[in-house]
Amino acid sequence: MSRFIDSIRIFCQTGKGGDGAVHFRREKFVPKGGPDGGNGGKGGDIVIVGDANLWTLLHLRYKKHIRAENGQSGQGSLKMGKDGNSAIIKVPLGTVVKDDETNEPILEVTKDGEEKILLNGGRGGKGNTHFKSATHQAPSFAQEGQKAQSGWWRFELKILADVGLVGFPNAGKSTLLSVLSAARPKIADYPFTTLTPKVGVVPYYDERSFVMADIPGIIEGSAEGKGLGHRFLKHIERNSVLLYMVSIEDLDVKKQYNILFNELKVFNSDIVFKNSILVISKCDMADKEMHKEITKELGDFPHIFISAWDKVRLEKLKEKIWELL
Ligand code: GDP
Ligand code: MG
Repeated sequence: MSRFIDSIRIFCQTGKGGDGAVHFRREKFVPKGGPDGGNGGKGGDIVIVGDANLWTLLHLRYKKHIRAENGQSGQGSLKMGKDGNSAIIKVPLGTVVKDDETNEPILEVTKDGEEKILLNGGRGGKGNTHFKSATHQAPSFAQEGQKAQSGWWRFELKILADVGLVGFPNAGKSTLLSVLSAARPKIADYPFTTLTPKVGVVPYYDERSFVMADIPGIIEGSAEGKGLGHRFLKHIERNSVLLYMVSIEDLDVKKQYNILFNELKVFNSDIVFKNSILVISKCDMADKEMHKEITKELGDFPHIFISAWDKVRLEKLKEKIWELL
């Protein structure tokens, strides 16, 4: 399941600041001109940019070292050195960058186009012009550019789910996830709490697959669980599919669905626009009559009856999910 890289180490180095120049004006008939050494340019930064089109950290897998450009040295005639270009690292939304040694989170990118500076490039040194004074008319020294900063950083993608499962306790979420998923990607512990969302990779045709997550705590949760659930939802906001799961045992399916929907909507009104499917689970427990009744009640509201136990319509469910993805 190499598609789902969620943690990667990268050596980052900023550009060094350009040195200030030591230089003196030289003109015809001016035997000894004043100092005119320009400042050095600034070294390039290491900049992290959120990109909503990225879903994994795979593109960084072989980039073990990332370096920004050095600033150029200053020159005579007060000419400033050119600033070094920054190194831009594009990451999927939900990426956290940590100090690899201390594991301390340094920054997090959550929005498309959001730019954060991980490391500042070295400051350029001042040219000798800067050091001229009444007593020091011709300083023969300048400032060096600031050194580059470097180190190892860990990039972690917190959540990789394409599909989120929400439902009441006992709706059958865990069972469906375990029946559908072939493997469990390594997911970084959720940094805020001890609860970890359950995540699985669901294989589809042609070696395609998607990641499905059992979103904890939305409905049943303690305050902590709820908080986690909603933060978790934030991270799957960009992912397109939400499965609302209601057990066929809950006689009034539509009502249960509405409770779920409204609970989510309170926290996140975008949910309303999200692609979703109402999944009615444990259909093995009900007879044809009951199916009919529920179908009639739901009308053309999109829904699907499944049974994780008897493997009823699981392929169909996967198809529907894939269509929406
Ligand atoms: P969760 O709380 O939503 O994660 O629900 P679970 O997956 O733990 O399932 C709750 C209970 O329903 C368990 O006893 C499961 O064995 C049972 N269950 C799950 N899926 C099915 C199903 O397709 N048919 C039937 N009859 N029972 C199921
Ligand atoms: Mg469960």
